[in-house]
Amino acid sequence: MILPAPIPDRVDVVIFGGGVAGLWTRWRLEHAGYSTLLLESSSLGHGQTIASQGILHRGTKYAFGKDVSQASMELLMAQEVWSRAIKGVDGPDLRRVTVLSPTTVMWTSESFLSRFTGAVAAGVLKSDVKKLEGDARPAAFKSAPKAVNVWEIDEKVVDSSTLVRELARVVRGPMASLAPDAHTHWDLPGMLSWTDAAGRSHATHASAAVLCAGVGNESLITSLAGTTSVPGAAASHVSQRRPLHMVMMRGAPCDLFGHCIRELSDKPRLTVTSARDADSFVWYLGGSLAEDGVSRDESTQIDAAKLAVHECLPWVDVSRASWATLRVDRAEGRTATGKRPDTPIVSHIAAAGHTLAVWPTKLALAPAAAGRVFDLLETAGIRPTGVIDAGEPALSPAPLPWNEGGVRWR
Ligand SMILES: Cc1cc2nc3c(=O)[nH]c(=O)nc-3n(C[C@H](O)[C@H](O)[C@H](O)COP(=O)(O)OP(=O)(O)OC[C@H]3O[C@@H](n4cnc5c(N)ncnc54)[C@H](O)[C@@H]3O)c2cc1C
Repeated sequence: MILPAPIPDRVDVVIFGGGVAGLWTRWRLEHAGYSTLLLESSSLGHGQTIASQGILHRGTKYAFGKDVSQASMELLMAQEVWSRAIKGVDGPDLRRVTVLSPTTVMWTSESFLSRFTGAVAAGVLKSDVKKLEGDARPAAFKSAPKAVNVWEIDEKVVDSSTLVRELARVVRGPMASLAPDAHTHWDLPGMLSWTDAAGRSHATHASAAVLCAGVGNESLITSLAGTTSVPGAAASHVSQRRPLHMVMMRGAPCDLFGHCIRELSDKPRLTVTSARDADSFVWYLGGSLAEDGVSRDESTQIDAAKLAVHECLPWVDVSRASWATLRVDRAEGRTATGKRPDTPIVSHIAAAGHTLAVWPTKLALAPAAAGRVFDLLETAGIRPTGVIDAGEPALSPAPLPWNEGGVRWR
């Protein structure tokens, strides 16, 4: 058993939330010599990071949309950072993260329009994709007709659980639990007081706070707004949620990582990632299925998933699979249109002194979000006073969605 490290009396930065944003930010700050304390209200990565599909997007799928450039550029730059970390060359040492697949595929259904879209996409993306023929295609395409085009995309898929575990291990600053409904109070620089999961009260002097709590940023900002009268402090002014209704399919015959593209859209009809599960695989299904399925109930969403799998992969037999769904919200910085931001968003919550709220927008963009936090703290004149070594991480990653106890398989 890992005993919790003592809570330090004083740190440079308190980070709320141990998902990919909080953990990468913690690495970035400790690397620069800041002392940090990470406060987590559940298990590490609970919410989005563990539930993500783990695709380190290259920006390829955004190349079809109107808002191409910014998102694609940011993602392309982030790719290099991830590659170096996974190789252990630079950045947090992520050599022990499981890379589930070194590449993804993009494929079309048999319809003419879909094949046309695929051809256009491949033309736009010619330096990023490679057409796969014959045995070079993944096992899931073994029985696919010739009219189905398959391209390989140079984007890795990582296992979110080992990612969270390794990010938590690469730095040794203290982490502590926070009661989920804890009343936190701060006005930084100054004392931050909170209650831990066992009901004990703590206080730490901090120079700055960084909110990386995903959807939890809303309540943190709201509790701040409640203690101040500063206009614009409300969470709704700076954040938004975009819900998803994901589907899990247990009993897949092989693994598959990729996007089934549909007619002239930047949203894939289906995005499939996989995990080993006893003697078969779990397919984790997102893309338009998950976005459009938000208004569907569980059983209608499963029917929609069966249809989508049939339309995208009619040659794969999934008749003996069992199915379940997962509702999860993407938490993002607010955009004027409510659509996906192109970049990570880091907002200064002026009502609370040196407090920054972070939404990476994508798992892949967590390094960029962390870089922005570092730049803003430096600009604000917050200087590092030296890291604290608290030993092994005191908290563990949340379970993967298909391993959660309460999942109802049908
Ligand atoms: C279904 C799904 C699939 C996705 N797939 C991909 C993908 O393939 N590729 C990609 O790049 N992006 C993907 N994303 C987006 C990506 O997962 C998120 O952008 C990213 O994980 C957000 O990380 P985060 O650390 O900001 O938030 P989270 O991962 O939600 O972490 C927040 C952390 O804060 C904790 N917390 C909550 N409230 C509090 C509080 N009050 N105090 C302290 N701690 C708190 C939580 O327990 C959690 O540990 C996906 C998102 C979803 C939902």
